[in-house]
Amino acid sequence: MANGDSYEIRGRHLFTHEPVAVRIHDGKIRSISAAGGFDAREEELWIAPGLIDLQINGFAGYDLNLSGVPMEPRVEAVIRMSRAVLRTGTTTFFPTIITAGFEQILDSMTAIRLACEQDPLVDRMVAGIHLEGPYLSELDGPRGAHPKAHIKDPDWTEFMKWQEASGNRIKLVTLAPERPGAISFIEQLVRHGIVASVGHTAASPEEIGRAAEAGARMSTHLGNGAHPQLPRHPNYIWSQLAEDRLWASVIADGHHLHASVLKVISAVKQDRLVLVSDAVHLAGLPPGIYNTHVGGRVELLETGRLQMADNPLLLAGAAVSLMDCVQHMYRALETDLAAALQMATVRPATLIGLSQGRMETGAMADLILFRWNKETKSVQIRQVLKHGTIHTIG
Ligand SMILES: [Zn+2]
Repeated sequence: MANGDSYEIRGRHLFTHEPVAVRIHDGKIRSISAAGGFDAREEELWIAPGLIDLQINGFAGYDLNLSGVPMEPRVEAVIRMSRAVLRTGTTTFFPTIITAGFEQILDSMTAIRLACEQDPLVDRMVAGIHLEGPYLSELDGPRGAHPKAHIKDPDWTEFMKWQEASGNRIKLVTLAPERPGAISFIEQLVRHGIVASVGHTAASPEEIGRAAEAGARMSTHLGNGAHPQLPRHPNYIWSQLAEDRLWASVIADGHHLHASVLKVISAVKQDRLVLVSDAVHLAGLPPGIYNTHVGGRVELLETGRLQMADNPLLLAGAAVSLMDCVQHMYRALETDLAAALQMATVRPATLIGLSQGRMETGAMADLILFRWNKETKSVQIRQVLKHGTIHTIG
């Protein structure tokens, strides 16, 4: 029945806790109605919208930021990675391309476009591309792991070549507003319907204000990509927190931000908070020591912490799925699961202007069915629906 025209799924609606029958027709939700007479299996299943991740660099060993690799394996990596991501409950995502030389970014954009053109599932999952760099701060700390040699000032002509290679898929750009030309670049992005996000920045409060004035709408992984030590106030974290025009994304993997920071950002931003995984290619792989082409020897722990093998205090990227972040947020904020899940569904959809992330009549049937253990505050995904096609996980 995976591709059937019309069928029904049954379980508890995460937002109402009521037993429901969801009728799927032609890949869309035709109706959601109260249901009774559940069997034992249905009794323990919950239904929610599929997750939307605005920042994924790689997953399950597949890297979107490859260098010196022919086009065919690059396209293959996008296709295989998308399927691995889908199995974690993320039904929509933004492949994220980071700072690199012009040609490498061009190749990464081309690979994503070709993967979308060749594979209908990838095309449905990729709702946009996130370009994170190269127009970032070159300072150690704010720059994070982005290679200094390729950090530069914004250049619209260059950007449009990448946009063309992507098939107009770039919908989110992270940049540092203090770079010369950044404010007019943000205005150009806005004119083209692209979301500008402040990130990897050491901007002054005034520069952050000017970015918001120009139309920037988000802070990328607020609290990370920063100096290890900052003046107590003012500083660019306070300024972004206080700027009501900026939404914030956070990496709530349990390693990048302390629970107290998550709590404060959540209290300040309220319904303008978005979870992202920022997953690197080692995410979803078994624990162990790995050799990487950028970071050298890294260790992935059972907990999902990815650290430098020779300096365990240093993180080497994020390595869990967005659903793991949702569960961490649920525990860290002592909130309910539905509230945490909204930060990874309807919120990013609202920010970007996507129709996904909603469980309502007429919406595409992008849904997850899962078991929810309230004692351990954990979930186990059993099925993922993408445009009505069922992918059984376990
Ligand atoms: Zn980053």
